[in-house]
Amino acid sequence: MTMFYRETDEAKVARNAATVFDLHGQAIAWLEEYTQIPFPFTKLDFVLLPGFQYGGMEHIGNIFYREPSLLLEENATENQQLGRARLIAHETAHMWFGDLVTMRWFNDVWLKEVFANFMAAKIVNPSFPKINHDLAFLLSSQPTAYGEDRSQGSHPIQQPLENLRDAGSLYGGIIYQKAPVVMRQLEAIMGETAFRDGLREYLKSFSYGNATWDDLISILDKRNQTDLQAWSQVWVKEAGMPVIKTERGSDGQLLITQEKTARNGSYWAQHTELALFTRIPLLKFPLTFGDK
Ligand SMILES: [Zn+2]
Repeated sequence: MTMFYRETDEAKVARNAATVFDLHGQAIAWLEEYTQIPFPFTKLDFVLLPGFQYGGMEHIGNIFYREPSLLLEENATENQQLGRARLIAHETAHMWFGDLVTMRWFNDVWLKEVFANFMAAKIVNPSFPKINHDLAFLLSSQPTAYGEDRSQGSHPIQQPLENLRDAGSLYGGIIYQKAPVVMRQLEAIMGETAFRDGLREYLKSFSYGNATWDDLISILDKRNQTDLQAWSQVWVKEAGMPVIKTERGSDGQLLITQEKTARNGSYWAQHTELALFTRIPLLKFPLTFGDK
């Protein structure tokens, strides 16, 4: 690995360099183990650019970074250190998710971004045990995703794109905030091991080639009891979110209903945990919304 930089403050470079190399090394080792695929290219260098509009860009074997994101000041906060570790893990994860296997077309651009963040969280979070990562994820994802998805103007995670010049219009709250929640749900439905094994098969099958979201779902669907095609239809290919209502009938029964999706009148299949607060101790039981 070689680091290219223009920073003239040598003390600043010296203070950060070892950590920057270590973080890349740790991310590579973790990804090799998780995917069971050795680093797929012949080298990995990185270039620190003083001014760069993105945090990073995953060119094969030569990642570009915004220099201040990697060369931190002496008094950097824990959140800045976490941000740097996540950025490095994100771009390194792209070597497998995005570069080794690339989307066929930009309608699936969301997938490589979600995977990069999803892997980065798995790689980095255990090194920052003082931070409540699940709570941070909830606060940074759900409210923004709901805010956009509840509106009439919302769009599906997977969006058609006619011309590459409009690719910039795809990015927004649905890709960056809803899609990560949906990916976590997919892993929860399948279980971590079956999900990981499915990803291994997907990466191996499409190495150095292109694949679509549907290719991935076909692989995962074989390893799982839930109908993932139907799940993908409502969660990824349609806009909106499930609205669940509770009513107390005149006979005292509690009625829990889910509204159908606007477009084709199906339901969002999902596992839900219902908690009832009564005078007796808390009752909790699982509930599954299916096709009725
Ligand atoms: Zn990315």
